[in-house]
Amino acid sequence: MQDNKPGVAVIGGGLAGLSAATTLNEAGTAVTLFDCEPAPGGRLGQDTRADLGAQYFTVRHPAFRQACRDWEARGWIVEWSPQLYQQDLEHGLRSSADDIQRLVAVPGMASLAGYLQQGLEIRQADISQLQRTAQGEWLLRDADGNEYGPFRALILATPAEQASALLCVAPSLQQDVARVRMRPCWSVLLEFAQPLPTLVDACFVRDGPLDWLARNNSKPQRSGNESWVLQSTASWAEQHVQLPAAAVVAELALAMERVTGQRLPEPLDSQAHYWPQARPAEQLKWGALAAPRLSLYVCGDWCLGGRIENAWLSGRQAARALLDS
Ligand SMILES: Cc1cc2nc3c(=O)[nH]c(=O)nc-3n(C[C@H](O)[C@H](O)[C@H](O)COP(=O)(O)OP(=O)(O)OC[C@H]3O[C@@H](n4cnc5c(N)ncnc54)[C@H](O)[C@@H]3O)c2cc1C
Repeated sequence: MQDNKPGVAVIGGGLAGLSAATTLNEAGTAVTLFDCEPAPGGRLGQDTRADLGAQYFTVRHPAFRQACRDWEARGWIVEWSPQLYQQDLEHGLRSSADDIQRLVAVPGMASLAGYLQQGLEIRQADISQLQRTAQGEWLLRDADGNEYGPFRALILATPAEQASALLCVAPSLQQDVARVRMRPCWSVLLEFAQPLPTLVDACFVRDGPLDWLARNNSKPQRSGNESWVLQSTASWAEQHVQLPAAAVVAELALAMERVTGQRLPEPLDSQAHYWPQARPAEQLKWGALAAPRLSLYVCGDWCLGGRIENAWLSGRQAARALLDS
C-alpha cells in the first residue's frame, strides 16, 4: 500500500540507486528514480552486447547472498566459471584457478539494471540543483531548468564527485564527500571473426597498462562474435586520459599480446570507453551517509569500496535509514 505523502526521490540509477529504490518500493513508499542517462545501470554498463563496465560480482554479505538467490531463481544472474589466469613479471602467465563463486547477469551485466527497474517510476534528468522548501520538502532542478517535486525525502546515489556538487544544501555532508577520490579506467572491446586460440578466458594482469582481460563470450548466454574486454589500470588511465580512442585500442591490444604471448588477428570491430570515476581510491566503512533532519541520504559504492555488492549494500542502508527515521 502506497501512502499519500509526497514520495521519495532517488538521484542516480546505478546499483546503489536501484537498491535504494527497490527497498523503498518494497516497503510501500512511492519513489521516483532519476538518472541522467537514457537507461539506468551506471557502471554496470549500458550495452548488453559486451560488459565494458563491471565484469562479474562476488558475494560476502548474507543479505546480498539472499538477494542473489532471488535473482538466480528469476533467471537474472548465473554463475560464470572462466579458465582464470594471472600474469606478472616474475611468473609470467599461469593458471589462477580458485573456488570463488563469480556471478554475472544475463544476457549482459547491464541487464541486471533492466530487471531491477521493473515497477519503478524512472525519469531521465540530469539533476543539477537541490532546493529545500519552507515546508521542508525537496525540489529538484535539472540542467535544462525543469523542476521536479516536491519530495519528502531525497537519496543521492551518484558517484562522489556528482554528489558533492549537489550537496551545497548540506555543507557538512559535502565536506566529507568532497574528500572521496575516485580513479578512472579505460575499457576496450575487441571483436574477432574466430575464437582466439588460447585457454585463457580471463586474466588478472599485474604488469603494464592492463589490469584485467576477459573473453566476453565465455560468460553464459552471450551471443555474437568472439569478443574480448581489456581494462586498464587506474594509473594508466590517469596518464592517458587524452589519448584518442584508436590509440587506446592499439596500446591495450599490444599489451594483451604481451600477456598471452600471441599475435592478435585484425579485429572485426573495436571500441574504447573511458570511465572517469571507475572505482573509489580507498575502501571506506561509511555504509551510507545521512542528514535525517534534512531527510537527505547519500549512498554509492564509494561509501564502502568499489564493488557491485557494496553499491547494493550502501543503497539498501540509505533506504533503511530513511524508512527508520
Ligand atoms: C570498468 C569497471 C569495471 C568494474 N568491474 C567490477 C567487477 O568486476 N566487479 C564488481 O563488483 N565491481 C566492478 N566495478 C565496480 C562497480 O561497477 C561499481 O561498484 C558499481 O556499479 C557502482 O554502482 P553505483 O550505483 O554506486 O554507481 P554508478 O553505477 O556509477 O551509478 C550512478 C548513477 O548516477 C547517475 N548520475 C550521476 N549524476 C547524476 C545526476 N546529476 N543526475 C541524475 N543521475 C546522475 C549516473 O548516470 C549513474 O547511472 C567496475 C567498475 C568499472 C567502471
